[in-house]
Amino acid sequence: MTAKTAVQQGSDLLAGAGISEPRLTAEVLLLHALHKERIYLFSHPEHELSTVEWIHYGRYLHERMQGKPTQYITRLQEFYGRPFRVSPAVLVPRPETEHTVEQALQVAPRAKTLLDIGTGSGALVVTLALELKARAVATDLSFDALQVARGNAAELAARVDFVQCDLAAGIQTRFDLIVSNPPYIPDAEIPGLQTEVRDFEPHLALAGGALGTEIYHRIVPQAERLLKPGGWLIFEIGYQGEAGVREAFAKGPWQDITLIHDLAGLPRVLRGRYTP
Ligand code: GLN
Repeated sequence: MTAKTAVQQGSDLLAGAGISEPRLTAEVLLLHALHKERIYLFSHPEHELSTVEWIHYGRYLHERMQGKPTQYITRLQEFYGRPFRVSPAVLVPRPETEHTVEQALQVAPRAKTLLDIGTGSGALVVTLALELKARAVATDLSFDALQVARGNAAELAARVDFVQCDLAAGIQTRFDLIVSNPPYIPDAEIPGLQTEVRDFEPHLALAGGALGTEIYHRIVPQAERLLKPGGWLIFEIGYQGEAGVREAFAKGPWQDITLIHDLAGLPRVLRGRYTP
């Protein structure tokens, strides 16, 4: 079978299983089986699949049809223009999270030290460490997530120290900037999430408590202990999270609290400045 036919058949199978973007997905999975870059499909449409390639491609299609996210099959997701390794121990980095990067670069372009609380794949902290040429620390409760993040920092040559702890409990020094994309899905919404997220992504990184904003109420006081005066705390928030996270800020000496919407028009980033 040729690559061209394999894409067509894979695309039909995925479409039949109700998978979105079936053709693109088939191409990505075939390229993963072939260990090739995207351009190869255009330059070599008549490539004859070997038995091993065919078996791998078939397995990937099967996994995707079961709902497994493509990124957990290829173990790769691009974020802010850089390739990040992912595993089922971490959330797949989302394009919306790039808004948190943009905000950080906008309000704290001269930050020399930064902390990422609940780093997951390390997408945020590695990106910011590189963009700001800053010294970074990142935490996660999950040892397996930290292994993934460590690998990404090493691969992309970012200077990041990783600490396994609950939120920022294990951190002592002060920073110019703190970012966090904590779990924020209200518990009651977990059962209604799409299969890809609910059945494959780590609930530790998703489930935010009854309201979905409880964790922000724990992070904000920690940030007051860990930010230099004038430093910024920048959160990704859920679409219903604004009021609850504003409440968390309202209890302390925070100013310039600003909400930023994502490209879909949903509330996505809430930032505040620590002004004791
Ligand atoms: N944005 C993710 C989702 O909707 C959730 C990320 C999070 O809880 N921090 O699946």
